[in-house]
Amino acid sequence: MTGRVHIVGAGLAGLAAALSLVAAGRRVTLYEAGPVAGGRCRSYLDRGLGRRIDNGNHLVLSGNRATFSYLAQVGAADALVGPAAPLFPFVDLADGLRWVVAPSSGRVPWWIFIPGRRVPGSRPSDYLALLALRRAGGQQTVQDALGACGPLYRRLLQPLAIAALNTPTDAGLARLLGTVVAETLMRGGKACLPRVPRVGLSETFVDPALAWLAAHGATLHTGRRVAALRRDEARVTALETSDGPVPLGPDDAVVLAVPAWIATDLLPGLIAPDAFSGILNVHFVTAADPGRTGFFGIVGGTAEWIFVRDGVVSVTISAADRMVDLSADDIAARVWPDVRAVLCLPDPMPPVRVVT
Ligand SMILES: Cc1cc2nc3c(=O)[nH]c(=O)nc-3n(C[C@H](O)[C@H](O)[C@H](O)COP(=O)(O)OP(=O)(O)OC[C@H]3O[C@@H](n4cnc5c(N)ncnc54)[C@H](O)[C@@H]3O)c2cc1C
Repeated sequence: MTGRVHIVGAGLAGLAAALSLVAAGRRVTLYEAGPVAGGRCRSYLDRGLGRRIDNGNHLVLSGNRATFSYLAQVGAADALVGPAAPLFPFVDLADGLRWVVAPSSGRVPWWIFIPGRRVPGSRPSDYLALLALRRAGGQQTVQDALGACGPLYRRLLQPLAIAALNTPTDAGLARLLGTVVAETLMRGGKACLPRVPRVGLSETFVDPALAWLAAHGATLHTGRRVAALRRDEARVTALETSDGPVPLGPDDAVVLAVPAWIATDLLPGLIAPDAFSGILNVHFVTAADPGRTGFFGIVGGTAEWIFVRDGVVSVTISAADRMVDLSADDIAARVWPDVRAVLCLPDPMPPVRVVT
């Protein structure tokens, strides 16, 4: 193939597609509706807070080979940082208990036999539940596969499932979580090193990719929405964009790297997911002790994960449909007591931004 590839959407999917295609020798043009690239994974200046913040916290595990090869390709492998060992600090707000899950580095999971490294109250045999995730098929949910009870479920597997799938455990598919577990926990602690951006999401995932693509001849048009695909029976003949039509040659190709609900608008008849959950991020401008990892998992609270970086404390609540209709003030007021308790911070509540 010698034609140009037209990529609709410059979020991480569009950028990743562009990187692969350019590396394979293709000519690429990206069309992005928004003023900047990055989509749901980017940083911006919040004028109200007077700070640059990420739209939402992202935690990547070292076993995520696709992410790390993306970063290596654009020379940003060191833009994600984290502890030298796989450490996951948790706080249970129901009883104040604090613990650190600390998988051993090799594939043999000897850490589950050491009470100080596993989830408090769990037994080594409980961890066999992870195999049930690998065996799960079809529409079996996380809750069905794991039984939804006991300390291991409540204090590790449930928070992991909700964060990884952004779906409640009675709806999230066990086989999807099984894939995450197979690529991380089951490959040993070396595949479970938690990594977060050293500076921000854009500085990590977006800016280095754009620089690499520009240096390799790819073109990005921002502020250019693709409103429709003009088609004859066999192929797409033009993109209808907000700046007018773009005719496509016979060897050109189109990649749709847009959210599913936009892809089905552009390509009626396409089968794509049609149910989605919101994620809440609540950013407080305050200094706090980041601990050894810069993040904390929360059990028994409204907050689910707390991240601390450069004078900003950010809370993530996944599968948050139950909360997204509340006012920002209401959400912040519900989350702040959890943050205060976990990080031992004083009242009053500092300046805050809620991002849904
Ligand atoms: C708060 C939050 C936390 C997250 N945490 C994690 C995490 O910890 N780990 C993890 O792996 N993932 C995480 N994710 C998920 C991750 O951010 C997304 O999976 C990823 O960013 C999606 O990328 P995408 O390119 O598929 O879609 P998007 O980011 O939505 O990109 C699509 C792009 O297409 C553009 N577009 C839409 N319509 C058109 C059109 N008609 N024409 C042109 N352009 C168009 C949009 O403006 C957008 O820039 C999180 C997401 C959020 C929101």
